Amino acid sequence: NPNPTIGVPRPAMPTPISRTVAVIGAGAAGLSAALELRREGHSVVVYERETQIGGTWAYTPETENDPIGLDPTRKIVHTSLYASLRTNLPREVMGFQAYPFTATEKPGRDPRRFPGHREVLDYLRDFAEEFQLGELVRFGREVFHVGLIDHRKWVVKSKRVNWELEEEEEENESFDAVVVCNGHYTEPRIAEIPGIDEWPGKQIHSHNYRVPDPFLDQVVVLIGSSASADDISRDIAKVAKQVHIASRSFPIGDIGKLSGHDNIWLQSMINSVRKDGAVCFQDGNTIYADIILHCTGYKYHFPFLETNDILTVEENRVGPLYKHVFPPTLAPWLSFVGLPWKVVPFPLFEFQTKWIAGVLSGRIPLESTEEMKADIEAFYSSLEESGIPKRYTHKIGDQQFEYNDLLAAKSGSPPTEEWRKEMYFVTGRRKRSTPETYRDQWEDQDLISLAHQCFDKLNI
Ligand code: FAD
Repeated sequence: NPNPTIGVPRPAMPTPISRTVAVIGAGAAGLSAALELRREGHSVVVYERETQIGGTWAYTPETENDPIGLDPTRKIVHTSLYASLRTNLPREVMGFQAYPFTATEKPGRDPRRFPGHREVLDYLRDFAEEFQLGELVRFGREVFHVGLIDHRKWVVKSKRVNWELEEEEEENESFDAVVVCNGHYTEPRIAEIPGIDEWPGKQIHSHNYRVPDPFLDQVVVLIGSSASADDISRDIAKVAKQVHIASRSFPIGDIGKLSGHDNIWLQSMINSVRKDGAVCFQDGNTIYADIILHCTGYKYHFPFLETNDILTVEENRVGPLYKHVFPPTLAPWLSFVGLPWKVVPFPLFEFQTKWIAGVLSGRIPLESTEEMKADIEAFYSSLEESGIPKRYTHKIGDQQFEYNDLLAAKSGSPPTEEWRKEMYFVTGRRKRSTPETYRDQWEDQDLISLAHQCFDKLNI
């Protein structure tokens, strides 16, 4: 069992080698990593800060003490889910390839095609149980340091934190490889607004949005146009006096009252705010508001990672990373799962983790450090030439299936199913054309049948 040596190109090994691997996080990505790494014969420890699996999907009504999440000493609440959340993908598309997300007859479960968040947590629990992944997880352990010792092993330092008693019990362990699966919807990014320090209203980030009740009779300005901005604006409008959605991306012609709603307006981006409570928009419109709700996304954040600047997060680009997974000079001993966004996350995690597991055992050859670096440079240049800002480096959107197929080819696993791609695009179109009803009315029954034919073959 040769020691891994950082930075030296690795030829494929004839016999798979078992490595010791630490996985950070037991959300969907960490669970997928645990499964694929163990299948490949590695010895796996999953560190999980919370006392349960599920990550984002483990809803709690609790919120952070700093509602916009700027205070670095705040007690972190991991999830960003709100009580009313239903999935924005149909369950057939959303589930793992290895473990379909089908409706179950079990009591208390949500059989809807776009179920509520609790159903996703239950599904992930079923997945973990089916493959006995719970036994690999060290619950209640927060990783606070990951660093290299002697250029060949990683030390992972973790602590058991009991917030009530403030007791910390540290543990250090060393591994051949570390797979980072800590999620990227916890560290809020907020909009910079001229005049905000003197503005008298309240501010909150969507990370800390749970229920509409606190918005009763309020005038709310919500910034953003993502999936959660869509959901939350409609949720709040049930009780608020007025909801104004400010976004850079609304075409001028769309500015004004949102059709089908009495109290939702689309606005241009905020230009500035004033101490008399005014919120001034770029097109000259002004309103007086009580609350600004930032639905402005999140930052990649790896506070535990000590890589001596080999890897950085710049304008939300985590880099340099080969195919969003491996930093060339640390590959394959450090890897990241789940950085791409605007994707179907769970199957993408499977493609990435199969690749990582196979490369670590030596079964799958990895490109040389120089080849990886050249590929990354070409990728960054192509983004620049197309005028795509750095912060969109990991937004792969419609290219996700090409990406998945590339990783599948590397690991010798089946590519994305045709019905899944088709269903994803059909759903996207319906979401845009009928945002209020796409979760309950659909016309892709033929694709659902194809999906089920495929699931039946799995025999689960
Ligand atoms: P997470 O689920 O965030 O898991 C990360 C885990 O790492 C957590 O359990 C955390 O406690 C742990 N962790 C973090 N830091 C440490 C540390 N230092 N030490 C130990 N443990 C640590 N996806 C869909 O497919 N369909 C949807 O409808 C959908 N809706 C969404 C709605 C919202 C509001 C959000 C925020 C996301 C949504 N997603 C959706 C995307 C969702 O993030 C993914 O489905 C998936 O849950 C991400 O999994 P993950 O494992 O990468 O991260």
